Amino acid sequence: MPAIKFRGVDFIQFDSLLSDEERMVRDTSRQFIEDNLVPIIEECNRAGRFPKELVKPMADLGFFGASLKGYGCAGMSNVEYGLVMQELERGDSGVRSFVSVQSALVMYPIYTFGSEEQKQQWLPAMQKGEKLGCFGLTEPGFGSNPGGMLTRARKVGNEYVLNGEKMWITSGTIADIAVVWAKVENEDDRVRGFLVETDRPGFRADDVHGKWSLRASVTSGLSLQDVHVPEKNLLPGSGGLKSPLMCLNQARYGIAWGGVGAAMSCYDCALQYSLLRKQFRDQPIASHQLVQEKLAWMISEITKGQLLVLQVGRLKDADKVEHQHISMAKKNNVWMALECARLARDILGANGIADDYPIMRHMMNLESVKTYEGTHDIHTLIIGSSVTGIDAF
Ligand SMILES: Cc1cc2nc3c(=O)[nH]c(=O)nc-3n(C[C@H](O)[C@H](O)[C@H](O)COP(=O)(O)OP(=O)(O)OC[C@H]3O[C@@H](n4cnc5c(N)ncnc54)[C@H](O)[C@@H]3O)c2cc1C
Repeated sequence: MPAIKFRGVDFIQFDSLLSDEERMVRDTSRQFIEDNLVPIIEECNRAGRFPKELVKPMADLGFFGASLKGYGCAGMSNVEYGLVMQELERGDSGVRSFVSVQSALVMYPIYTFGSEEQKQQWLPAMQKGEKLGCFGLTEPGFGSNPGGMLTRARKVGNEYVLNGEKMWITSGTIADIAVVWAKVENEDDRVRGFLVETDRPGFRADDVHGKWSLRASVTSGLSLQDVHVPEKNLLPGSGGLKSPLMCLNQARYGIAWGGVGAAMSCYDCALQYSLLRKQFRDQPIASHQLVQEKLAWMISEITKGQLLVLQVGRLKDADKVEHQHISMAKKNNVWMALECARLARDILGANGIADDYPIMRHMMNLESVKTYEGTHDIHTLIIGSSVTGIDAF
């Protein structure tokens, strides 16, 4: 079977809805992924290795903090940023996760809640990929309900002392800086964000091993034992659980685009394979109605997912997006991508389980993507709360 090369997926002239600049950003990102990530990703996935060598080239293309303005950032529109995320996740959800965390979960909170000094210190270096970040919200006992967090900060003189544990933290052991969310004892346990340099005494990060998913991304546990940070490391604009949730909204938006990318990769691979693979009377399997039904389902759902996330992106660019819009796009597009991965794996038969093809890797990655940044079911409850006015968490 000859190697299958991605040809793009556009059933209803979706490209005509994009501006020239948006198409250019998408095409540049696509070419970068084809040339740099696709050739190495299966080896990285097998080895459980994050391709750190791509950090600098991704920085040079403006991928980090892409939608932020100033501080060396690219100042892309939200739709352009989304198209970058789509192409990254077409390559691999783990590499997209790394960029999401760096951009939406570390640079965004510094940009939004940080002092000018914090912005000057971190944003240009993070944009260049010289400094890497992680985001510590989840704890061993608190995932979907982060408000229950046990991590505490106590103000002592002109310092804060942090104690607690964070779990499932992307990029934890490669980060220079951690955005840590903690309840401040001297402020009635209000949740606030802290910038914690990872070389501070008492800070420890250890990798999670044995993952079957996002193997090309680093996932870690963080431990903070009497970690002292100066008061200038508090993110002054942060206050309440709303602050980390604002960060998650940024990341979820990118994931909604990413789902389209992973689905495109699986669909295009299955389509090309089905035209080459012959079974019964020397006919391509694509000639069988049951195979066509799977391909038709995939292209229909991908097309709906593209339109959904483009509209959410347009609303975001017009400053009119609501968090429930982003929840719908994340929930739908990740579910859709996972279903496409399962159908595409089926079309490839036995070959579908091998890493000669990207499908099984996408499928395993998408299981994490379905769970993180608000699980599929939590987004259902967010949509339910929005339409009924009643919280059912
Ligand atoms: C690879 C990976 C990387 C991650 N990276 C980060 C990171 O960088 N930073 C970070 O802070 N976190 C990160 N996370 C953590 C992630 O955000 C959490 O796993 C997620 O929020 C779910 O929490 P949980 O795993 O504790 O599941 P739980 O909250 O225990 O949920 C388990 C199940 O119960 C369901 N459930 C829970 N409550 C309800 C309810 N009220 N009603 C109905 N169903 C409910 C959930 O939908 C789910 O199906 C990462 C996770 C993974 C897997």
